[in-house]
Amino acid sequence: MLFTPNVIKNLLKKPVTRKYPFEVRAPFSNYRGELVIDINKCIFCGLCSRKCPSQCITVDKSSGTWQCDPHACVYCGLCRDNCPTKCLSMKDTHRKPVAEKVTWIEHGNPPKPKKRTVEAKPEPEVKPEPAPEAKPEAEVEAKPEVKVEAKTEAPVETKVEVKSEVEAKAKPKTKKSGKKGKKGGK
Ligand code: SF4
Ligand code: SF4
Repeated sequence: MLFTPNVIKNLLKKPVTRKYPFEVRAPFSNYRGELVIDINKCIFCGLCSRKCPSQCITVDKSSGTWQCDPHACVYCGLCRDNCPTKCLSMKDTHRKPVAEKVTWIEHGNPPKPKKRTVEAKPEPEVKPEPAPEAKPEAEVEAKPEVKVEAKTEAPVETKVEVKSEVEAKAKPKTKKSGKKGKKGGK
């Protein structure tokens, strides 16, 4: 008898849960559902493939194919956020379950590489080198003459003086020896 008021109240109250799948809730904003690509906008840069954490995207620019393994996708949205042309988008619903494995391949037209035009560069100006100035003959001949005279004359003078002194000392000795000889002879 104590619970009778609560039972009557709950029977008359609106239910908290929904009767899924007869009643489906509206999706939240920015919901990350099934991946969609507009292959005509794709430039096959491969950025989505490099950013995908589950490595389920394969881009082949040479053959113009964009391939995804939907079973490996974790709906992170990194490929969509990093696509430079914004050709990837995500639905607000998940894909329906399938019994067999699905291979998702898109074929597009990769852009052709642009031809580079090489502009002709102007040749650098070559400045003529100034001719060396001719030195006067007097300056060129004067320097060697001064050096030769200084070296040759100085030693000759000293030798002459030494010889004269030696001779001067030697002469008186010969005279004395001669006197002695004369004395001894007497
Ligand atoms: S889908 Fe986007 S990121 Fe991926 S190859 Fe194409 S242009 Fe590049
Ligand atoms: S949503 Fe995430 S896991 Fe799925 S293909 Fe894009 S990057 Fe890969």
